Amino acid sequence: MSSTASLWRNITCSTAWLSCRRSRAGNTAVKAVYWTRAYDRATGHPGRVELVEVDKPAVRGPDDVLIRVAYAALCGSDAHYIRDDLLSVVFAPPAPVGHEISGVIEDLGPAAQAKGLRRGDRVTGNFILECGHCDTCRRGMRQFCRSPRPHGAGQAEYIVWKADQVYPIPQGVSLLEAALIEPFTIAVEAVRRGGLTPGRSVMVLGAGSIGQTLIQLSGRTGAGTVAASVRTPSKQDTARLMGANLVVDPRQQDVVQAGLAHTGGEGFDVVFETSGSPECARQALQLARRGGTVVYVSYYPPGSTLDVPLFEELIFRELTIKGAQLAQNSWVQALSLFPKMDLRPLISRVYPLERYQEAYDDLLSGRHLKIVLQCCEDAQ
Ligand SMILES: [Zn+2]
Ligand SMILES: [Zn+2]
Repeated sequence: MSSTASLWRNITCSTAWLSCRRSRAGNTAVKAVYWTRAYDRATGHPGRVELVEVDKPAVRGPDDVLIRVAYAALCGSDAHYIRDDLLSVVFAPPAPVGHEISGVIEDLGPAAQAKGLRRGDRVTGNFILECGHCDTCRRGMRQFCRSPRPHGAGQAEYIVWKADQVYPIPQGVSLLEAALIEPFTIAVEAVRRGGLTPGRSVMVLGAGSIGQTLIQLSGRTGAGTVAASVRTPSKQDTARLMGANLVVDPRQQDVVQAGLAHTGGEGFDVVFETSGSPECARQALQLARRGGTVVYVSYYPPGSTLDVPLFEELIFRELTIKGAQLAQNSWVQALSLFPKMDLRPLISRVYPLERYQEAYDDLLSGRHLKIVLQCCEDAQ
């Protein structure tokens, strides 16, 4: 079984456990967003998410941390619960959703306290708990942990995570902004994989929240020039605000021609493909300079392929091609960088948890950047 399959198998197991936790008489009930119906490929009937009541989770183990969730951002990947069956291959409803959170510790076990966490701490975290001692974890590749334990379920009033998943929010960062730290780790990991160093040129294809974050992060990492291909007009403005020196509208211009013209025909040192479009995936190769690096940071339709001319691209132009999915190895760096970022322009809308349906409608519209659920009324 591949590492990815093993990860998803574990998600399914964890989900089965959580779905048993629907509220029973006598227990305090709290609200959580659940994926309750899968997309039906035969009829084209969309999937569904709903707000359900579950038992309030509690600290049971010594390293458990009960977090009162303040904000939970919707991830682009959450759209796949409704729009298609990309996630159905490995994952089935009913299942709790949400993995980009901020909150405050309400209770915790003694082992969590021994790690320095305290009641009232403002925290965020990595929704996957790696074992930390398998061969891949010990080789520094925690994303391939052989026994990962996912704890999504963050679009909810409360979650329980293990102390090793939890990170204090840096001083000066609001709880609302902190809901963007988890997706920020993805951008940090992509920049690391791209080998971005000062003075390099960068092209970002696609301008969802990861693409926009990469524009700003590339600039603040010292990129000499940052170009972006952005289809939606409002997102073009945001891309400029985030620091793009060149914004290409793929509806009006040939992206490859415009990108090459901007670099004197050379192409870019690093190309980040964040759009999820197989066509852009091909363009990314053409936009890289000789010896350049292309990093793919998106989900693609199942079965899509990338046709790479072996001699012309890999050998003659010495391209480096990388994929990036998770970012467990970049949390520490991301937390130290986050206060230097300003990702507030990416927050398009904030809805109370009860209005989750409008939030998901906005997500599916594709017109917005980050949609955030406010999970408790007094979140600040
Ligand atoms: Zn995400
Ligand atoms: Zn491991």
